[in-house]
Amino acid sequence: MPDLAVPVVVASLERMHGGERWHWTPESDPFEVALGAILVQHTSWTNAERAIDRLREAGLLDPRRLSELPGEAVEELIRPSGQYRTKARKLRAFLDLIARHGALDALLALPPEELRGQLLATWGIGPETADAIVLYAAGYPAVVVDAYTRRLFSRLAMGPSRDVPYPAWQSWLADALPVAAPDLARFHALVVLHGKRLCLARRPRCGQCELASRCAFAATPPLPP
Ligand code: SF4
Repeated sequence: MPDLAVPVVVASLERMHGGERWHWTPESDPFEVALGAILVQHTSWTNAERAIDRLREAGLLDPRRLSELPGEAVEELIRPSGQYRTKARKLRAFLDLIARHGALDALLALPPEELRGQLLATWGIGPETADAIVLYAAGYPAVVVDAYTRRLFSRLAMGPSRDVPYPAWQSWLADALPVAAPDLARFHALVVLHGKRLCLARRPRCGQCELASRCAFAATPPLPP
């Protein structure tokens, strides 16, 4: 199996998915992005989006208005995202963080390391969620490592072993990405699109993937029935 480099994988993902739309773009509303990054924890984007749509229809995609809503009402609105009681508490903690800075803009204007640190110190926000907010809501460079990232590169026999902690994956990827100012938002979007369209958790569609001839997973014969 020939060695692969991350920039080669990126170029291939670009050819396969470059024309497809991803729900977070540099034009996305930062508050909606941050809510989505919390609501998508442990569920699919489809479920998180249903919860966001309900908040939008209720006119609550606004930190001040959402923070004025009783907890039970927030829980009910975000129910489609699953774990809705826990996620309502996480949203409350994030809204409290915004309130301490006066406004979301002020929070997102912190230097990137300080912003990341404050997010990580907030209940319910782990490194993946924090980095998604830093990258997509604040617009700072950040390498986001999620389940799609681990699955893709593990199947390609690249990167640390699949279950090692987040920082090891992030550090490997940061070193392996193209040196010349990579568009990290686009990179992450391409990895997710690939994971949702072709590199599925079960029954990946390797026949449609141009990485198949260089993929350790695709080269492994299926187990006998
Ligand atoms: S060949 Fe299959 S397993 Fe490998 S990256 Fe493509 S879709 Fe994923």
